[in-house]
Amino acid sequence: MNAVIRRCHMRRALEIAKSSVAEDERMHPLVGAVLVRKGKIVATACRGELSEGEHAEYTLLERKLPDQDLRGTVLYTTLEPCTTRKHPKSPCSKRIVQRHVPAVVIGMLDPNPKICGRGERWLIEHGVDVYRFPPELMKLAEEQNRTFREQFQSVSREAAPKGRRPVLSVDLSGRWYAVWQSTVDGRECVNSEVVDITQRGTRIMMRNLNRSLENPRGGYLWRGELKLYDNSRLMGHYVAAEPNVTAKGVFYFLLNHIGQFMSGKWVGCNHDFDLTWGFGVLARDIERAREKFKRLKHLRRGVTY
Ligand SMILES: [Zn+2]
Repeated sequence: MNAVIRRCHMRRALEIAKSSVAEDERMHPLVGAVLVRKGKIVATACRGELSEGEHAEYTLLERKLPDQDLRGTVLYTTLEPCTTRKHPKSPCSKRIVQRHVPAVVIGMLDPNPKICGRGERWLIEHGVDVYRFPPELMKLAEEQNRTFREQFQSVSREAAPKGRRPVLSVDLSGRWYAVWQSTVDGRECVNSEVVDITQRGTRIMMRNLNRSLENPRGGYLWRGELKLYDNSRLMGHYVAAEPNVTAKGVFYFLLNHIGQFMSGKWVGCNHDFDLTWGFGVLARDIERAREKFKRLKHLRRGVTY
């Protein structure tokens, strides 16, 4: 197979990636996959093509070609195949090996530092020949997933040099899930809410979309305004957005380095007290918010990310 044809398949995969469908409001990558045998395309797929959240490689190998012998094929994929998936799903790297695909050509490595390079290494260790797109096409793959990549870029906690504005590398906009330590009739309770964030530069507007279900009497709708410092600390205040509720207070949150969750405290007044406080965690999914909250509740002294 000559280089021109190979590039053609890579470009095709990049083109197909553009049709990827995100399953929710979180940031998901665009991924395109093309399977080739003897220079001819056997099948193609993009992320979420047939079903929500399905990876391109999975759609291609297991949904479109479940019964085919894939020996002698080459898989072109715009993003490094994954190495972990929640049970009972199986990671794409493993599927590639199980289906005996002998060669994989990768557009870009996964920008998530926890995954980056592992898929590639796993394939190599399991006897798959792994290649990368040439630099100019790799650049296209990276450009295609620029926003997805940016969320993983490590954040400098040091102050920006004099005269230079700090570089913003977190985008907190979108849907979050919050878990709050609060009270109902003077007794402790845990409230959960769906929270919407809009971000303009370092200015963060926060609002809950529902009153806490666990605390129908003490729950209320609120609006908050915060500022992001050092790409990692959020400070601000919140005020009830209902006419007969006087609750208000201040927030302090510490953001993890890829902007996927924040832990902190609120201090203010609520249904029961004029001065009270509690822990709070916001995360992109409710399970993580609950898990982080559980850990935070046992905290005595402080936390570092
Ligand atoms: Zn995958």
